[in-house]
Amino acid sequence: MLTLDFHPTGNHFLQIPGPSPVPDRILRALSLPTIDHRGPEFGALGLKLTQGIKRIFKTQHPVMIYPASGTGAWEAALVNLLSPGDHIVMYETGQFAHLWSRLAGRLGLSTEILEWKGSDTELPEAPGWRHGVQAALIQERLEADKEHRIKAVCVVHNETSTGVTSDIPAVRKAIDAAKHPALLVVDSISGLASADFRHDEWGVDCTISGSQKGLMLPPGLSFNALSPRAIEASKTAKLPKSYWAWDEIIEMNKTGYFPYTPATNLLYGLHEALEMIEAETLDKIFARHKRWSAGVRGAVEAWGLPVQCADKDLHSPILTSIIVPKGIDADKLRKSILERFDLSLGAGLGKIKGRTFRIGHLGNSNDLTLLATLAGCEMGLKLAGVNLAGRGVDAAMEYFAAHPA
Ligand SMILES: *Cc1c(COP(=O)(O)O)cnc(C)c1O
Repeated sequence: MLTLDFHPTGNHFLQIPGPSPVPDRILRALSLPTIDHRGPEFGALGLKLTQGIKRIFKTQHPVMIYPASGTGAWEAALVNLLSPGDHIVMYETGQFAHLWSRLAGRLGLSTEILEWKGSDTELPEAPGWRHGVQAALIQERLEADKEHRIKAVCVVHNETSTGVTSDIPAVRKAIDAAKHPALLVVDSISGLASADFRHDEWGVDCTISGSQKGLMLPPGLSFNALSPRAIEASKTAKLPKSYWAWDEIIEMNKTGYFPYTPATNLLYGLHEALEMIEAETLDKIFARHKRWSAGVRGAVEAWGLPVQCADKDLHSPILTSIIVPKGIDADKLRKSILERFDLSLGAGLGKIKGRTFRIGHLGNSNDLTLLATLAGCEMGLKLAGVNLAGRGVDAAMEYFAAHPA
């Protein structure tokens, strides 16, 4: 929509679950002059960032910063950890888990998919896409793998296509209970800096993340947080790797530099984001997203529409996905809301295309932008002829007013 002849008044509402709305402070930081990435100023910036980002992942170990989207960091993790033909277990919680397993297959890995089995009347197309990872299934599978053929277990922390989170410590416990040496690899591309995440304490071997979700940056940076075991594994892993290879980056990062030209201006943005996050504190940020999520979920319940996440305790703090009534095309609904009210919502992805839409409650949002978002949805739903049980916006207003931040 952002063509040069498109000038709507007011701000566009970018309420998709990533890219999230970018604070003006970060946009201004991005516009600083580009500097020499081999010069002294850059080294100081690089050192600050490679240290600062560790505090967001809650790790003492190296974090790789790539000039790539999250998908690049998925690939980086797998090529550094694994060898051709290695067998890995991946848990399908939604479209992102599915795309990651497709990428793993293309790299020459042997993938085995675990998923929730059952039926669902509201979303028969994808019953498993309403649930989080069942750690017991992983434990059972690992216990059966007596020869330790499985090299890694891959799970998504916050499944952005469904609005369901997974219990990562429970997955760690399952691997330990099975006394299995598989590496734990976690996609927290949309979870990091919005939902509680503790790389070291939770015993994750490699955490993958990206810039355009909780870090409130534009797309273009992504991350691999490592464990000592991951670094060890990378020394013998045989999948071809060059650009993504951790060893050279770890070495160069010690002095604040990178083996190649880094995305200098995005790194200015990361610097600003780290300052904002540390000033607010991660705990307050997590509480803020939970509160938004409760308000938005309450609105959807007041409309009488099913939230895709079937387990309230696993409802994502970052986004809410809503199942539309049969006969309504969620993509047409989103299109009309965009055209009428300049509000972008997330689409139902993959096998639930047209069956759901998603509201992002992350990034540079606040109570009133979320109320406006809900108002846009409520008007759009009514215009599409959906019979709503009640007023979602009113429910959210009451929730936000009664629950001060
Ligand atoms: C956004 C996202 C991705 C994909 O990242 P890109 O930046 O689009 O490459 C992968 N996994 C999850 C959970 C995501 O939210």
